[in-house]
Amino acid sequence: MDVQRKLEILADAAKYDASCASSGTEKRDSSDGKGMGSTAPGMGICHSYAPDGRCISLLKVLLTNACNYDCLYCVNRASSNVPRARFTVDELVKLTLDFYRRNYIEGLFLSSGIIRSPDYTMEQVVSVARKLREEHHFRGYIHLKTIPEADDALIAEAGKYADRLSINIEMPEETSLQQFAPEKDVRAIRRTMGRLRLKLDEAEEDRNAKTKAKPQRFAPAGQSTQMIVGADAASDQTILHTSANLYGAYRLRRVYYSAFSPIPDASRALPLIQPPLLREHRLYQADWLMRFYGFDVAEIVDDSAMLPLDIDPKLAWALRHRDRFPLDVNRASREELLRVPGFGTKTVERIIATRRTTTIRLADLARLHVPRNKAMPFIVLSDHRPTPHRLDAVGLIERFKPKATQLGFGF
Ligand code: SF4
Repeated sequence: MDVQRKLEILADAAKYDASCASSGTEKRDSSDGKGMGSTAPGMGICHSYAPDGRCISLLKVLLTNACNYDCLYCVNRASSNVPRARFTVDELVKLTLDFYRRNYIEGLFLSSGIIRSPDYTMEQVVSVARKLREEHHFRGYIHLKTIPEADDALIAEAGKYADRLSINIEMPEETSLQQFAPEKDVRAIRRTMGRLRLKLDEAEEDRNAKTKAKPQRFAPAGQSTQMIVGADAASDQTILHTSANLYGAYRLRRVYYSAFSPIPDASRALPLIQPPLLREHRLYQADWLMRFYGFDVAEIVDDSAMLPLDIDPKLAWALRHRDRFPLDVNRASREELLRVPGFGTKTVERIIATRRTTTIRLADLARLHVPRNKAMPFIVLSDHRPTPHRLDAVGLIERFKPKATQLGFGF
């Protein structure tokens, strides 16, 4: 099988992986005339192709889509009737360098089905990164998927070459993982996450220590994971609790939520249709609220345990807590401002900086890029106060919902 055909199969097989952000890595370039490629921290390299058109400029590919395991939700499972392919380490290294030279990509996202053994598979994945870095001085971005049961020494080596490492937690609950991926062991996944955290902490201590010794390098963009949404019955509340636990226990940089995609010849235990993509989007918004806005899970989801699909979770929270509004933008604390619908973290910083020298008025909101329609009922400014009882209006929520549109007839 030629490399082009392998690429078709193995890039297609990788499209279900949603870990495609590169923020947080170290700055590295080849301006010294040695090597090739660069990474710019915070540039957010994240383009590849997903079936629904989501962003994805990494070469996102599997080393092989053959797999010994039979995870029901996975198109690459052992019992799946799909064409199989496998790159050699050298083929993948050459492909990555060729694509980089042609300006197609800025880095590599590499995962793999498990063949022979976790150690053998991990050794192959690490070999690609090792060759790129040591033989070709590749300075682009590398994200490696780690195999949970792989030997510690291999994981440590992976961290030496990769910018980011990830291990998929796969399912929000242990029982679902047992049901859908019986060969996978949630304890092994968590153990590996714990080992990664220890190594990341050690590397950070090394960097902070004021010694002359070169600090050890270990995955400077940290670790991430992915959870499949909608393959099991787990509620958004359960999913967010699992994420909160993962962020707290393993200091993950990101949890990615991947809406379950129905696969060919699927098990009857799986749903026939994919959950609304909007559910995945709302989970990302809720995740953002936990990480940057000071919300905890109990505040984000109400008794229904599900996020509303028609409005975003921060607006939903504000409408459930109308007694806390309207908020005086010129006096409120940073924490309070972060809870105003339409106010992002940068907006809040700009508001705080601006009000040190001047009183914020209505006209200033446009300059601060605040979506006025969303924020106005919740804020007080020196020249704006929402009309009395406006916040209590039963129909207020309707104002924020997307407008209904007539379906087209296609002619
Ligand atoms: S181990 Fe990974 S590649 Fe293999 S079946 Fe499970 S999810 Fe798919």
